[in-house]
Amino acid sequence: MTTPQRIISGMRPTGQLHLGHYHGVLKNWVKLQHEYDCFFSVVDIHALTTHYDDPEIIETNTWNMVIDWLAAGINPNSAHIYLQSRIPEIAELHLILSMITPLGWLERIPTYKSQIDNIKEKDLHTYGFLGYPLLMSSDIMIFKSGLVPVGEDQVPHIEFAREVARRFNHLYGREPDYQQKAEAAASKLGKKNANLYRNLYKQFQEQGSQEALETARALVESVQHISVSDKDRLLGYLEGGGKIILPEPEPMLTSFPVMSGLDGRKMSKSYHNTIMLSGTPDDTDKKIKKMPTDPARVRRNDPGEPEKCPVWALHKVYSNEDTKEWVQHGCRSAGIGCLDCKKPLIDAIISEQQPIRQRANDLREDHDLVRNIINEGCEAARDIARETIEDVKEVIGLSY
Ligand code: SF4
Repeated sequence: MTTPQRIISGMRPTGQLHLGHYHGVLKNWVKLQHEYDCFFSVVDIHALTTHYDDPEIIETNTWNMVIDWLAAGINPNSAHIYLQSRIPEIAELHLILSMITPLGWLERIPTYKSQIDNIKEKDLHTYGFLGYPLLMSSDIMIFKSGLVPVGEDQVPHIEFAREVARRFNHLYGREPDYQQKAEAAASKLGKKNANLYRNLYKQFQEQGSQEALETARALVESVQHISVSDKDRLLGYLEGGGKIILPEPEPMLTSFPVMSGLDGRKMSKSYHNTIMLSGTPDDTDKKIKKMPTDPARVRRNDPGEPEKCPVWALHKVYSNEDTKEWVQHGCRSAGIGCLDCKKPLIDAIISEQQPIRQRANDLREDHDLVRNIINEGCEAARDIARETIEDVKEVIGLSY
């Protein structure tokens, strides 16, 4: 038996969840929670990086967001749900890491410049906004996390976190008597595993065998009866260092389906083109009926082209093959009108929303239950965070 790898992921509580969040992130989380040790965070401090002048939205959005997560299928028995601001060790680690993070590394992150250029309505020239990838690194590293599910555009953030972890381990990871300590830790693996570890160590150090390195890492990870400190020591020693205090996180590349919005652009609150996850049937019906279609279909008997129509983009997500065939043929031959075409889509979206909305309404009635779920998640998260910050403070000389 091996311990499932830990996964960290989070969302900013800056607005109500829509179908883009559901198809792009939540459905993936629901799957991951059965395979990994998942920690899902409401990153409320991150919300302040862009909404520092609008703090009253955070509390309401946080409750609504957690309720939507639960209603969408996140199971608190399988995953931990916690609030970033309730784990002060994250902020503490952020501060400590800021001492060793070169300014140029932050300024180089592609999203920094593009967001400064794109978000004109807010002044984002703040210390907090520049440093948000470092706060994200702390979110991840406080849990000594292995995997972070990300889309392609987020990979630079994980690369940045890896660089920071490497720098930290390089500066503080080597213990004075690390060789003896690593040897003592190897002996605890048991005779057979200890010999295997030493052989693999030799193969990597002398021949640079990457395979030997990977096998040795897997061996150390699979052993249950040694302490986290000894594991870190053995992993660090393998690569010629002392002790890995902050393991480098790995991106778990996920091809998040980009959900099309009501106007054909990516579904996003800032484009005002969303359908809410727990929206009412009436709201969904009205929004879809008002959706623009292929401009070539001015009259009912003008043929159209689905690829030029945002309604078709939603059919691709919601409709079965028969319906999609009916839409394509009916649109191109003008055999169906746009309202006919929208009808099965409206039905499919409403039937997806209906059970989620029902569960969300029930949860809204049971505030204590939601509070308890969050409290338990925060406790579990904080237990790990405390251990990490103790290790960090010890090596940087702040544990006197
Ligand atoms: Fe769009 Fe359907 Fe109308 Fe074709 S028939 S233009 S796919 S809404």
